[in-house]
Amino acid sequence: MRTKSKIEKYSMKKYSTLNHSHEIRKCLLPALLFFGIGNSSFAQKEVKKVVKSDEQWRVVLSPDQFNVTRKKGTERVFTGEFWNHHDHGVYSCICCGQALFVSEHKFDSGTGWPSFYKPVQQSNVEEVNDQGHGMLRTEVVCSRCDAHLGHVFDDGPLPTGLRYCINSASLTFKKE
Ligand SMILES: [Zn+2]
Repeated sequence: MRTKSKIEKYSMKKYSTLNHSHEIRKCLLPALLFFGIGNSSFAQKEVKKVVKSDEQWRVVLSPDQFNVTRKKGTERVFTGEFWNHHDHGVYSCICCGQALFVSEHKFDSGTGWPSFYKPVQQSNVEEVNDQGHGMLRTEVVCSRCDAHLGHVFDDGPLPTGLRYCINSASLTFKKE
């Protein structure tokens, strides 16, 4: 009888410990999500917009870079620095330095512009409806400084089926 009650006591205690750890997990999960733990190192810890006037951008960008990123221009096909570029590394925004794409996601689209099947981190780019030039397209911009990068189309390779068609002039590359 005594033994039985001890076992009962033990299992009660065990149950309450389990229950307690479950409670902790229930509290920890939202906290982990809130602080963004588990995201890759490319994640923005806080989205702090970079805002500059055209005059300020002109000082730090070449005329081609300015025309593409700040005036939504498109570089001439097969002329950019990165359409035929195969080094391993990270492509960042020429304006604000935010990481945008990595070489692992780059593919040869045959279009003459650097093409990726996904951004390094979805939150590092924003996608905007673009009805310019008589077409309905999806424009891709840098989420930190609103630099025009290019467009995204749904004729890319697996696993996403997307083709981020990006101007070399909007990118800077760091070899890894
Ligand atoms: Zn940027």
